[in-house]
Amino acid sequence: MSTYQAPLQDIRFVLFDLLGAEALFQRLGRDDASRELLDAVLEEGARFTQSVLAPLNAIGDTHGCTLDPATGAVTTPPGFRDAYLQFVEGGWSGLAAPATYGGQELPHAVDVAIKEMIDAANLAWGNFPLLSHGAVDALMRHGEEWQREAFLRPIVEGRWTGTMCLTEPQCGTDLGLLRTRAEPRADGSFAISGTKIFITAGEHDFTENIVHLVLARLPDAPAGSKGISLFAVPKLRVDREGKVGERNAVRCGALEHKMGIHGSATCVMNFDGAQGWLVGEPNKGLMAMFTMMNSARLAVGLQGLGLAERAFQNSLRYANERLQSRSLSGPKQPDKPADPIIVHPDVRRMLLTQKALVEGGRALAFHAGTLVDVIAHSGDAGERERAEALLGFIIPIAKGCLTEWGVECTYHALQCFGGHGYIAEHGMEQLARDARITTLYEGTTGIQALDLTGRKLLQLRGAGMQEMLRMVAQFCDAQAGNADVAEFIDPLRALVAEWEALGRGIAARAAADPEEVGAASYDFLMYSGYAALAYWWARSVAASASGAPGFAEAKRATARFYYARLLPRTRQHKAAIEAGAGPLMSLPAERFSP
Ligand SMILES: Cc1cc2nc3c(=O)[nH]c(=O)nc-3n(C[C@H](O)[C@H](O)[C@H](O)COP(=O)(O)OP(=O)(O)OC[C@H]3O[C@@H](n4cnc5c(N)ncnc54)[C@H](O)[C@@H]3O)c2cc1C
Repeated sequence: MSTYQAPLQDIRFVLFDLLGAEALFQRLGRDDASRELLDAVLEEGARFTQSVLAPLNAIGDTHGCTLDPATGAVTTPPGFRDAYLQFVEGGWSGLAAPATYGGQELPHAVDVAIKEMIDAANLAWGNFPLLSHGAVDALMRHGEEWQREAFLRPIVEGRWTGTMCLTEPQCGTDLGLLRTRAEPRADGSFAISGTKIFITAGEHDFTENIVHLVLARLPDAPAGSKGISLFAVPKLRVDREGKVGERNAVRCGALEHKMGIHGSATCVMNFDGAQGWLVGEPNKGLMAMFTMMNSARLAVGLQGLGLAERAFQNSLRYANERLQSRSLSGPKQPDKPADPIIVHPDVRRMLLTQKALVEGGRALAFHAGTLVDVIAHSGDAGERERAEALLGFIIPIAKGCLTEWGVECTYHALQCFGGHGYIAEHGMEQLARDARITTLYEGTTGIQALDLTGRKLLQLRGAGMQEMLRMVAQFCDAQAGNADVAEFIDPLRALVAEWEALGRGIAARAAADPEEVGAASYDFLMYSGYAALAYWWARSVAASASGAPGFAEAKRATARFYYARLLPRTRQHKAAIEAGAGPLMSLPAERFSP
């Protein structure tokens, strides 16, 4: 079975030494968020995730969820419900939510750290509260006051959970195709009818009520994505006074059988004239969804990061224990029948790849968390605007790259175990199966790439990218003359110039041929991810240089590995971008199969 130990030392390093979170929170007027308090929260989060959630990870995978077809009730794996009650008891359900609605209003950057721990400990379980977060965001920003009181407060307090109901059989990425209908009723509510598929936490036994946030069409709605509205549809009906009534006409019709995250209930939900309340303006549902996308996509990026961290920890332990063959340069443990496999360069390649992607990825993700805090609390409108642009640029990179790297890291970790990795007992194959969903839901990698290239780079004229490039250039200037990081600064400057030129090149080609955007998008996304990590690794070396010598040495060695062996992947992505759309589009669809 795989185990999990929250990487508190690196989490603290990234939050406090690298990102200067304590000073940032004070500057944002968050004097309540002292280092002492946040340390205590992180430690308690580590205790809860290690001792309560992590032991349930394999149990959830083995048992899965079960549906009673007669009632539509779903039973979660043994221990899941009890863990949720402890989660609520510990006040975790509303960690970063506003105090007005029962939350603790702690900084988002800390919430991000806790989310990483939850996902590493038990991704399937983490999906239940995760979807509540999306519902909280939607109701906070778009709900009427009575809706916030009636729906938001019980979700923040953990008494109810939330879902996001977008997907239908004929409508996945392209939400303009959705068919679920909403008919107005005399009491101001709407009758919601249709079928949604793949709904995470659509039904479960954690709480008595579930608030489904459903995208549907009003009778006179325009066709396509401009005619979609958002509705709150509770499992138990709720009136405008917040009074809970009888069972609503919404029911789980089936549970999907999946490759991984078996403990997460993925439901077919049937709405049969169910009572729903319009959230936000008619026909503006898609825009409401877009405003929630940053936090939902960052949250899925953290799932990739969490799984990669757990995979790394377990493969590192195994590589130190497993004895096979002697080191090429002579025995390292002559008293043993063979050396531990960590002596072999190829095993080190797999371990260091994970370490570099996990620790660099953590800096990338937590930085996004601090930007959310700046946007929420800065009194300077210019600073908020710049943070919005930068966050918008980083989010598709965080979602797309952290999940692709999560898949890669769980693959390397399994490979470190040899054939034992393929055997269920060690839990490594579960991590690899669980990781696979993260590149698919909440927008596939291809869709993140289109968002980055088509929207953030071209439509928004690269405002976020300019912020990113400025941040890197400022760092390089500030470090001029610092011997600790000198070896990384020139390559970083050259990389930034190339990154900008690639962006300009895509824009120029796209002006002549729109297919160029789609042809370049995946490679531009991955290039951007590796470039961003080059920045975070150089900064990590600078930030750790004056700290504990062993820690600083490990950061420097990993940064060198990153620059020497992973950053060259940008060469391949650059070549693919520059090859343009021609090689992709010239073969007619009917000729793929000769
Ligand atoms: C376990 C699980 C849980 C989920 N939870 C939820 C949930 O809680 N709520 C919810 O509403 N949905 C949920 N989903 C649905 C999920 O978000 C969708 O599966 C996902 O958005 C992709 O849609 P699709 O599966 O229909 O694929 P499609 O949209 O059919 O895409 C198929 C392929 O085509 C590519 N593609 C499509 N359009 C384009 C384009 N314009 N350009 C380039 N490439 C394109 C995609 O990248 C993909 O590779 C869940 C799915 C799963 C499997």
